[in-house]
Amino acid sequence: MHPETPAHHPASSSTPTPGGGAAPYTAYSVSWNLTQRCNLECAHCYMSAFAGADTRGELTTDECRRVLDEIAQVNPNVFLILTGGEPLLRRDLWEIAAYAAEKRFTTVLGTNGVLLGDREARRMRAHGILGASISLDSTDRVKHDAFRHLPGAWDGAVRATRVLSDAGLDFSLHMSVTDWNVGEIPAMIDLAKELGAKVLNLFGRGGGGTSPTSTPRPTRGS
Ligand code: SF4
Repeated sequence: MHPETPAHHPASSSTPTPGGGAAPYTAYSVSWNLTQRCNLECAHCYMSAFAGADTRGELTTDECRRVLDEIAQVNPNVFLILTGGEPLLRRDLWEIAAYAAEKRFTTVLGTNGVLLGDREARRMRAHGILGASISLDSTDRVKHDAFRHLPGAWDGAVRATRVLSDAGLDFSLHMSVTDWNVGEIPAMIDLAKELGAKVLNLFGRGGGGTSPTSTPRPTRGS
């Protein structure tokens, strides 16, 4: 899962009230971690996503359809974020998206953007995905790439924003804010405007091993 997207919450729950009763509520949005696989390997990823993650325990396409059926029972107008890991690494992503579109959900991708090219944008449109949230942590490509542990990650994310704009799809930027990039927030606001983002979401992070210059973890998997 992208740490920038909300945690996968239960589709519905209840909140204790002062009187001791429970006031039911319905989830407005569901952020769904479809896979632990990711083309990046960020130190701050609480999914510990990586390219070679074992997918054998992940839901099958049919099981995903069943989950969408259950979500629809709880909230037929849900805002659904398909994320991971990197959702574009799931071969059945378009089938899952198409099923969500049949349900008339408002569906977007949560992605690092690196794998999102013209072809993927066309497929998003064809399968009812209305936009994407793209992770971008710095105005400086070197710092972003170091934080994300992949040279070219910044260029890929920025290219994805242009691809989405060209395809007429909306996007938001998600910035993981830590002590190394907190001073960049004003510049990120300018960059978000320049790129045409609808929203810039800021997500707080603790310190620890999140410096852009921290030692990358060894690459695992493919
Ligand atoms: S892009 Fe980074 S934070 Fe997002 S899922 Fe991949 S490894 Fe985790």
